[in-house]
Amino acid sequence: MAKYKHIVVPKEGQRITVKNKKLQIPNRPIIPVIEGDGIGRDIMKATRRVVDAAVEKAYKGKKKIAWMDVYAGEKANELYGEWMPQETFDAIKSYYVALKGPLTTPIGGGFRSLNVTLRQVLNLYACVRPVHWFKGVGSPVVHPERLNVIIYRENTEDVYAGIEWKKGSKEGKKVINWLNKSMKTNIRADSGIGIKPISVTGTKRLVRKAIQHAIECKLPSVTLVHKGNIMKFTEGAFRDWGYQVAIKEFRNKIVTEDELWDKYKGKMPKGKILIKDRIADSIFQQVLTRPGEYSVLATPNLNGDYLSDACAAQVGGLGMAPGANIGDYIGLFEATHGTAPKYADKDVINPGSLILSAVMMLEYIKWGKAAQLIQKSLEKTIQKKTVTYDLHRQMKGAKKVGTSEYATQIIKNM
Ligand code: NAP
Repeated sequence: MAKYKHIVVPKEGQRITVKNKKLQIPNRPIIPVIEGDGIGRDIMKATRRVVDAAVEKAYKGKKKIAWMDVYAGEKANELYGEWMPQETFDAIKSYYVALKGPLTTPIGGGFRSLNVTLRQVLNLYACVRPVHWFKGVGSPVVHPERLNVIIYRENTEDVYAGIEWKKGSKEGKKVINWLNKSMKTNIRADSGIGIKPISVTGTKRLVRKAIQHAIECKLPSVTLVHKGNIMKFTEGAFRDWGYQVAIKEFRNKIVTEDELWDKYKGKMPKGKILIKDRIADSIFQQVLTRPGEYSVLATPNLNGDYLSDACAAQVGGLGMAPGANIGDYIGLFEATHGTAPKYADKDVINPGSLILSAVMMLEYIKWGKAAQLIQKSLEKTIQKKTVTYDLHRQMKGAKKVGTSEYATQIIKNM
């Protein structure tokens, strides 16, 4: 077993392993957990209590998570003198499935976002965000219940690859000169430059995951979201390569939208998944005007970033939006909001986003019974109108409780 400087490996747990390309989950899996900064301290405590209670209720002591604290952000800086110590990466790589609270990105000093670093170093190429409405939660739209989507956002490339040069810098000037002279472009000298790589590799592995999810969960469609009418060789290529994966690897499971009309006269054959594509600006309208027509959405990095938050807002906001970053085997499950420092240690914030991320984690390790218990109980708690301040301000006649009391109510309602 690896030796760590500050991480203490729980004696009673076992490591998750990979066999025949599948995760093997022991009954007492060791799961690394990054508590997170700011409100991370409040929501992680609440989440661990809820998860432990659900697992106990579902499996009567036969299964139990052995949590293992690993460090990033402010706590890591105190312990190691660095924000993202190597042994945190090593531990997550070695144990495969981890839970994470939000992290502060130190401002200045050339720090890259700790979250982006984690995703890139661990090659967590799919950012997965399910969005659906919980009955009773206030929403800015008339029919929030009609939206039930899961967004698969490419996580490692696009303009997020971090390849950019400042206006006026030596490198920036060099790139502009080269483009203008050798490639006959006409870029203004006072421009900043950013590069947008989108690869076959990045696209295909992301779309493959999205289609696999649709198959596994018997979902009706996968929509490729792109801006290919303008950016033909990046976003347009994302669409083309997406269709290629669908047709080449899932031929007898899918029907493309063209085939639906040409071969099937618009009537979807039973048991097949519809593969379609929408231009990015159109999908923002469609999730508002025809939300029921969408299920899995596969997107390049930037589109997915915007679309995930827009969809989350439609069903009541960030306090309830879960997320996961997934690679070939590693899954890092995390709240989608930040550290909200003004609420830190006040025991008021909504732990829903992290709790629902933990639900995704339980589904990932195939502990579906525990996941269901939490999901149902969270719904019940909201329907009983016992909620934290953020939901309270959108709900008439609700009772406002703090973070820890909310967790207690979820446990009671299981
Ligand atoms: P934020 O922490 O997400 O908070 C913005 C606002 O969103 C809060 O003031 C609150 O709004 C609402 N909110 C966030 N989490 C909530 C929850 N659990 N329950 C209810 N309401 C919630 O965004 P920020 O203030 O822009 O960022 C603060 C720090 O977080 C920054 O250092 C940033 O880099 C970091 N960050 C980290 C991550 C991550 O780790 N994944 C993601 C984003 C940002 P009201 O005050 O209106 O209630």
